[in-house]
Amino acid sequence: MAEKITPRSENYSQWYVDIILNAKLADYSPVKGSMVIRPHGYALWEAIQRNLDDMFKATGHTNAYFPLLIPESFIKKEAEHVEGFSPELAVVTHAGGEELEEPLVIRPTSETIIWSMYKKWIQSYRDLPLLINQWANVLRWEKRTRLFLRTSEFLWQEGHTAHATEKEAREETLRMLNVYKEFAEKWMAIPVLTGVKSPSEKFAGAIDTYAIEAMMQDHKALQAGTSHFLGQNFAKAFDVTFQNDTGSLEYVWATSWGVSTRLVGALIMTHSDDKGLVVPPKLSPVEAVIIPIFRNKNKEEVVGYARKLYDRMKDEFRVKLDADDSNSPGWKFAEWEMLGCPVRIELGPRDMENGKAVLVRRDNGEKEIVDIEAVPARVGELLESIQTTLFQRALENRETHTYDVDSYDRFKAIFDGEGGFIRMPWCGDAECEAAIKEETKATIRLIPFEQPELKGAVCPRCGKPADKIAVYARSY
Ligand code: AMP
Ligand code: ZN
Repeated sequence: MAEKITPRSENYSQWYVDIILNAKLADYSPVKGSMVIRPHGYALWEAIQRNLDDMFKATGHTNAYFPLLIPESFIKKEAEHVEGFSPELAVVTHAGGEELEEPLVIRPTSETIIWSMYKKWIQSYRDLPLLINQWANVLRWEKRTRLFLRTSEFLWQEGHTAHATEKEAREETLRMLNVYKEFAEKWMAIPVLTGVKSPSEKFAGAIDTYAIEAMMQDHKALQAGTSHFLGQNFAKAFDVTFQNDTGSLEYVWATSWGVSTRLVGALIMTHSDDKGLVVPPKLSPVEAVIIPIFRNKNKEEVVGYARKLYDRMKDEFRVKLDADDSNSPGWKFAEWEMLGCPVRIELGPRDMENGKAVLVRRDNGEKEIVDIEAVPARVGELLESIQTTLFQRALENRETHTYDVDSYDRFKAIFDGEGGFIRMPWCGDAECEAAIKEETKATIRLIPFEQPELKGAVCPRCGKPADKIAVYARSY
């Protein structure tokens, strides 16, 4: 039987770790800040990867692979990029028993190595757009880490695109932000806000950083994905020009965008409960588990009854038959709950006699008895309903903890209490933003695309005029 899980109400951070360790999603590695992703956690990442990859392909992208090691001089070519990433770099100085002539940086992100190649591959407007994605690991020497949400080494995808015009690059940046939003909402059942980051929170080397932000069950924010408009910064740093259709040379326009194994953490934190992991059906490695309930004397018949159902379902669903007799049914119920399986199908001797099955939903524990013939169709309905319910529940959590605020006292009071997302006019001043962070630990998560009409509004903290609403929250 699984260990006890700390209830969310007692200690949310501990609950999160308990879920990960008990559901065997990941484990701590010998190197501080990195983690081992175990098979059940990796299966979640694979499901994310497969479905996102389809969406990238459908929007015209192809995959490639660039090397792990980047010459240190490359990182230094874009001034903001090197300044932003320097504190997080791990550098290889020795290899093959010798000191290297030029140190090599382990990639924290791949703009520099990729744009050094784009210089070779792009000559004319006919070579554009270039739409490449890579699935890879990266390394950022993070000081404070948390399983999945922030690790030093993490897995991600990074899209790097090159365009002939600013307009096309800006369109691409927003297209991919919308791909992330659609994936988060439809597949992960996580509602997200979209908008632009404040200059102090943007990616080092970007002109504009856009993000999707989700609210966790403890009302903190999680940046779940970013899409950057890079302007011509990397093209200039790596001298990447193209001949336009009138024959003159121009610098290429760039975007980059990424999501990481942090998404697995987002999924865990958004949907799970005190009994264990809860996985949205569309991403669940097993959608339904069949558990026959038998004693030695009727084992063969009951397991046979279960196997018949399994055979009927296996082509249509990711279904598993758990007929192992070394554990009791009660143990298995708890174990599959811990693993987050959306639907449990119980089949006992009495169900067999009556031609019935018991279906139990993981999201709310509701039980129903249905005719055995109707099970596949009903499971299909339940999976859809669970997917929707999880999204609705998360949306409700966000909506009931989002506040429109025009007083700084009220702002502080909310963070002294339950916390949440606060929509408040912002003066646009980075110093004011930093002071708010210092005073409340809340940061601007994004400036939403959709803005109310603000007439004569002021920033409640400093009293200066404000022409935009920003969304503030404490974040992971
Ligand atoms: P960035 O390149 O900084 O825009 O990050 C791209 C994506 O990776 C974002 O969605 C981040 O949420 C995620 N990410 C950034 N740092 C980490 C980290 N240390 N661990 C896991 N995910 C990360
Ligand atoms: Zn202000």
